[in-house]
Amino acid sequence: MYFPLTPEQEMIRVMVEQFARNEVAPGAMKRDQTGEFPEDLVKKMAQLGLCGMMVPAKFGGSEVGAVAYVLAVMEIARACASTAVTMSVTNLSCEPLAQFGTDDQKSRLLAPLASGKYLGAFALTEPEAGSNLAEIKCKARKKGSCYLLNGSKMFITNGAYAGETFVLARTGEAGGRGLTAFMVEKNSPGLSVGKTIHKMGLRASNTVELQFEDCEVPEENRIGKEGEGMAVVAKALASGRIGIAAQATGMIRACLEEANKYARERQQFGKSLGGHQALQFMIADIAAGLEAATLLTLSAAALKDAGKPLVKEASIAKLFATETLNRAAYAALQIHGGYGYTSEFPIERIFRDARVTTIYEGTSEVQRMLIAKETMK
Ligand SMILES: Cc1cc2nc3c(=O)[nH]c(=O)nc-3n(C[C@H](O)[C@H](O)[C@H](O)COP(=O)(O)OP(=O)(O)OC[C@H]3O[C@@H](n4cnc5c(N)ncnc54)[C@H](O)[C@@H]3O)c2cc1C
Repeated sequence: MYFPLTPEQEMIRVMVEQFARNEVAPGAMKRDQTGEFPEDLVKKMAQLGLCGMMVPAKFGGSEVGAVAYVLAVMEIARACASTAVTMSVTNLSCEPLAQFGTDDQKSRLLAPLASGKYLGAFALTEPEAGSNLAEIKCKARKKGSCYLLNGSKMFITNGAYAGETFVLARTGEAGGRGLTAFMVEKNSPGLSVGKTIHKMGLRASNTVELQFEDCEVPEENRIGKEGEGMAVVAKALASGRIGIAAQATGMIRACLEEANKYARERQQFGKSLGGHQALQFMIADIAAGLEAATLLTLSAAALKDAGKPLVKEASIAKLFATETLNRAAYAALQIHGGYGYTSEFPIERIFRDARVTTIYEGTSEVQRMLIAKETMK
C-alpha cells in the first residue's frame, strides 16, 4: 500500500498505536465482560488530543486533520472497538459546531468538547425514526428565549456521560425540512437519561435512551437556522462515516493479526493451520480487504482535509470497510475453530463488536442509497 503520510501524521499514528497497545488493549476483554465504561481511558484520550482532532486549536481542538483522525481511530479500534466508538462519536459531536457554529458557539460549546473536557453525543435516532430521519418526532417549541424539547431518542452512544449532546428536533412541517439542530448541555432541566441498552457487542461503550420533557434549550444553542437541521446533519455525518470506516478498518487489522497468530500456533494434520492452503486463502482475503479498506478510508479523509466534497467517498469507505470487516471476522473466527467461539480468544469479542458497524451511522442499505444518488445524479 502506498499512501504517504506527513511526519506529523506518522508521529500521531505511532503515538496512538503505543497508547492503544499499552493502555487500551490490556483491559479490553475485561471491559467487554463487565460492561465497564472506560472513563480513565477517555481522560487519557483527552490529554492526548484525541477528542477534537479536526477542530482548530483556537477552539480547543488538536487541529491535526481528518487523515490523522482516521489513523488514530484505526489504532484504537485495533485494540478495542468500544473505546474507538466512544472516541469517534465525541469527535463527530464537534462537527456540527465546527462547520456551522457561530464564534460564540465555538468558544462556549465546541471548545469544551474538542479539548476533551466533556464527552459529546449525537442524538438522531428515535423509536420510530431510524434510517428515515424525516420521521423524527421529538419536538422543539419556541418559548421566549428558549426552545422546549419534548420527545425521546434511542441508542445514543456516550449518552449517559456526555457533557453536550447534539439533537435533531422538529420545529416545523412534517418531513426533513421541519428539522432543526441543537446542542443540549448536560443538566439541562427536562433532560433525563433513560434505559441503558444491553448489546450484543461494544459492551464497554455506553448506549442509552434519552428523554426530553419540556427540556429547556437556550436559543443561542440552536445550530444554524430553523429548518436547516438536515443539512447540518448530512455534512457532519459524512465526517462521522469516515470515523466508522476507520473503526472497521482497525478491526479488520485485529482480525488479520488474531487469525495469523492462531494459524501459526495451532497444529492439525501434522502441520500448522497456516500450512493449509484453504486457511491461507482466508488470510489472503482478509489482507486484501484490509488494504482496500485502509486506502478508501484514508482517501475519503484526505478529501475532507482538502475541503472537497466527500459524501459519496465517505459512504463508499464506510460500506466497504464495515462489510469487509464482517467477512473478515467470520473467516478469522473460522480459523480459530471451536476456540474462536469461546471468550478465551479476542476474536469472539471482535466478531460481536463487528456486527453493528454495518448498522450505525447509516446502515449498508442507506450507504448504497446515498452512493447511488450521488453516482446517478
Ligand atoms: C450500538 C448502537 C449505537 C448507536 N449509536 C447511535 C447514536 O449515537 N446516535 C444515534 O442517533 N443513533 C445511534 N444508533 C442508531 C443507529 O444509527 C440506527 O439503528 C440505524 O440508523 C438504523 O435505524 P433502525 O435501527 O431504526 O433501523 P430501520 O431504519 O428500522 O431499518 C431496519 C432495516 O431496514 C433497512 N431499510 C430501512 N429503510 C430502507 C430502504 N428505504 N431501503 C432499503 N432498506 C431499508 C435498514 O437498512 C435495516 O436493514 C446506534 C445503534 C446501535 C445499535
